Amino acid sequence: LPDRLKDSSPSVWNEYSALAAKYNPLNLGQGFPDFPPPSYVIKALVDATTNPNVLLNQYTRGFGHPRLVQALAKLYSKVTNRDINPLSEILVTCGAYEALYASIMGHVEKGDEVVIIEPYFDCYEPMVKMAHGVPRFVALKPRPCEGKMTSNDLVLDPKELESAFNEKTKMIILNTPHNPTGKVFTEAELKTIADLCRKWNVLCVSDEVYEWMVYGEHEHIRICNLPGMWERTISIGSAGKAFSVTGWKLGWAYGPANLITNLQMVHQNSVYTSATPIQEAVASGIEFELSRFDSPECYFKSFAQELKVKRDVMADFLQDAGMRPIIPDAGYFMFADWSKLERKVDLSSETDKYKDYRFTKWMTKNIGLQAIPASAFYSDGYKALGEAYVRYCFAKKDENLMKAKELLKKLK
Ligand code: PMP
Ligand code: GLN
Repeated sequence: LPDRLKDSSPSVWNEYSALAAKYNPLNLGQGFPDFPPPSYVIKALVDATTNPNVLLNQYTRGFGHPRLVQALAKLYSKVTNRDINPLSEILVTCGAYEALYASIMGHVEKGDEVVIIEPYFDCYEPMVKMAHGVPRFVALKPRPCEGKMTSNDLVLDPKELESAFNEKTKMIILNTPHNPTGKVFTEAELKTIADLCRKWNVLCVSDEVYEWMVYGEHEHIRICNLPGMWERTISIGSAGKAFSVTGWKLGWAYGPANLITNLQMVHQNSVYTSATPIQEAVASGIEFELSRFDSPECYFKSFAQELKVKRDVMADFLQDAGMRPIIPDAGYFMFADWSKLERKVDLSSETDKYKDYRFTKWMTKNIGLQAIPASAFYSDGYKALGEAYVRYCFAKKDENLMKAKELLKKLK
């Protein structure tokens, strides 16, 4: 076994997808919508494969299909207020996963430290280790609050963050809006991160796959737009999230050419190019959304409206079931404290080290409802912080949310 794999084991996604296949629960675990994507995006994919230009079924430009990088350049030029070069400042990847992987492999060397904010999307840690980097974790902490808790109540301690930076720090991985909690990082928090990046000459990889799903008065701020940050930030997006087509596995990174070229080399030497018809269809989707960008019908806005209603439905039924949800300000996941339910379940039949794994497995097998254990989003040293929580996905049909509500009644 090569050194770079010695700490790797099957991820929670592989383990829990197998669990779902075996027990067939109502699956609110892995994050994907169970309803159709916008119909015109599906039609665009059919059109791409049946187009008289049969070459749309063959390889396209390695660093990104020309029509797609043009569309992405237009979209991100608009929201960054700059003139993004489609050829040198964008890379199209196989999902946001590959964009993360190329950013890390393209920059992290043996012994380089990478700051990761906990809880975190689980692949950050193994990717850093594959590059022989050293993760440095800083945990979001709940601030004391009465009554309803929102993801905004999870805060970064600036002192703690500051102490994670030193001359070995190469990169920080930021994820806003945040998976798993739905936190939208505030301007003040981003400024603290940006100041440290500038002070220590550190790169910022900003995973923004939930960029369009922001609720209420919250606003997604791109750290690349902060002073002095464009030149040190790689921003990452996902068509899977933007258009509710997670199975299409198409993502991208944008940033300054001198950084993106390093990602392009990793991509060229591993994946080479992403699926052409998928890129053509996503290009057409972005062009269409750009044509109605300021209208409430733009999918980037209308989807958030739909999700907000689902979020509130879920928060209510989790609360009724005896959990304490943290109301997310963005994204499509909800963290919920399940510890008050412990006396109603029998965790002795499960053998996992962490209680939240035992709880979620028991729930899948006995109640027929699947969630993701929160400790999967924490590093070894902090897993205890996650044990009281589980994560549910609310990007689900209303009837399935109702079904979840009914299933939870079995716990009474
Ligand atoms: N980052 C975060 C925070 C995610 O939640 C996901 C899952 N969508 C990804 C990256 C990976 O995205 P993709 O499916 O496009 O690879
Ligand atoms: N991003 C999705 C989630 O957090 C899916 C992750 C995955 O399947 N690897 O649920």
